[in-house]
Amino acid sequence: MPGGHDQTLRPFLWRATRLYPDTEIVSREHDGLRRYTYGEYADRTAQLANALDDYGVEAGDRVATFCWNHARHFETYFGVPTIGAQLHTINPLLPDEHVRYIVDNAEDELVFVDPSLAGKLAAAAEDAAEFDGVDFVVMGDEPVAELDATPYEEFIGGHDADYDWPELDGDQPAGLCYTSGTTGRPKGVEYTQSMLWSHTMASLTPQGIPMTDADVVMPVVPMFHVNAWGMPFTATAAGAKHVYPGPSPEPADLASLIEEEGVTISAGVPTVWLGLREYIEAGNDVDLSALDTIIVGGSAAPPALIEWYDDRGVELLHAWGMTELSPIGTVSHLKHDLRDADYGTQVEKRAKQGLIAPGLEFRVIDEDGEEIPWDGEAFGELQVRGPWVTKEYFQRPDATAEEFEDGWLKTGDVVTVDEDGYLQIVDRTKDVIKSGGEWISSVELENAIMAHEDVSEATVIGVPHERWQERPVAFVVPAEAADRDALPDEIDAMLREEYPKWWLPDAVEFIDEVPKTATGKFSKKDLRERYADQSLVEGAVPEEDAPE
Ligand code: AMP
Repeated sequence: MPGGHDQTLRPFLWRATRLYPDTEIVSREHDGLRRYTYGEYADRTAQLANALDDYGVEAGDRVATFCWNHARHFETYFGVPTIGAQLHTINPLLPDEHVRYIVDNAEDELVFVDPSLAGKLAAAAEDAAEFDGVDFVVMGDEPVAELDATPYEEFIGGHDADYDWPELDGDQPAGLCYTSGTTGRPKGVEYTQSMLWSHTMASLTPQGIPMTDADVVMPVVPMFHVNAWGMPFTATAAGAKHVYPGPSPEPADLASLIEEEGVTISAGVPTVWLGLREYIEAGNDVDLSALDTIIVGGSAAPPALIEWYDDRGVELLHAWGMTELSPIGTVSHLKHDLRDADYGTQVEKRAKQGLIAPGLEFRVIDEDGEEIPWDGEAFGELQVRGPWVTKEYFQRPDATAEEFEDGWLKTGDVVTVDEDGYLQIVDRTKDVIKSGGEWISSVELENAIMAHEDVSEATVIGVPHERWQERPVAFVVPAEAADRDALPDEIDAMLREEYPKWWLPDAVEFIDEVPKTATGKFSKKDLRERYADQSLVEGAVPEEDAPE
């Protein structure tokens, strides 16, 4: 239904820039804070659109970013999809091999990259056929030594600050984000204009992650993770002030942005909010009085963290989502009739993953293929469907066939549902580890470890970790002739060549054999139960080895 009637991003941009031309967009950059208004944002986004046209980007083309959270990255959020092209946000924390695969699979021709990530991208691109013909734009006004890239300001400079934004179809692909971790190659999830529109509208409802024009919104969750949970779009739709925390923000940076910019809503994985708590508990005085709500998701929110922020007048709003869901699926608002419940009951509810967002449907299917009762006890795999849930993986019919059933997305999360309808994740069917909000593929590590000639079998599991939620630990059956003293270091050195430091197992434990199921598969459940308490495992991850 083109002709300006479709569900697209354009009205959000138009409305914000017309109604709130003086509202600010603040960005922590490599060289300090930068601030401008929606009015200037409109001009610069139009300049970017004209520059993309001039470069030769056409409707349906994919344009990639390899960036942290900042204002220029936000300019691509509207500048790319609103001309009819597709914004592909690449996760710069991925192993080089994954980056090469993703750029190739998405057929990216142009990549916007941060100066601080140029070296990492250059390493992935070096001698890689996947990068043949790919051009780079570096986010700043200076070239960088590591990569032959046009500075962004030069790229958009001199272009007209007006653009005749086209009328797009709701089905037009607008975004692309890869999800990795499970076995095999990363899978692309395409976001159409109407998926992003409906996700934004649902987010704005009181049972979503509501925002108004009085809000100051700071997404800490990276903009390469499912559009920073859609917050840049939601904040624009609301006409809120945006605050972008820039490259690898430390708790001190977040604290100062919260105080100085009056942040009212922020969002990120538990590790971020544990870090801020630690910073405050270490004696740093931080004024949190402006901050109303922190959206926490990606991994489970610990109840003690919810209570700690409650004590400081900040609501920790727990949400669950997935790349495939654009990403919001559930939000743990307190239902009206629980407002009078005792505090313990309330925290117990709020620590669950929450209530399905208005607009989505879910069902939970047990091992016998039956829907479970809502009793808080029975469990099964969570399946979802709705307007902002993808229906397929990008160019991956194999994965689509595996992960969807009668139009429902099989989430790989095992949940209970209580009488009030709160979902709680109790297990995962997918063989992955989530550390500080980032996936690590256990199967990929296992295969890499088993390539060592002195290893006869190996398995890798996620062990609970207070700060990172999970860390990988390798369990290895050494070959008879193995030098047991040297083997852990050799494994470590071997993995380091291929994987980022934060992928490396915290510990390598020797075992006599890997427990197996009746059908001979590795039984990780068994090991997980044995090592449910991380203190049983020797060694801990050094701070600098963890994901940023
Ligand atoms: P991603 O696609 O990278 O966003 O990861 C989605 C997966 O992260 C979900 O399927 C869950 O396994 C996990 N996840 C997301 N949010 C939560 C949460 N609030 N609590 C526990 N696990 C979560």
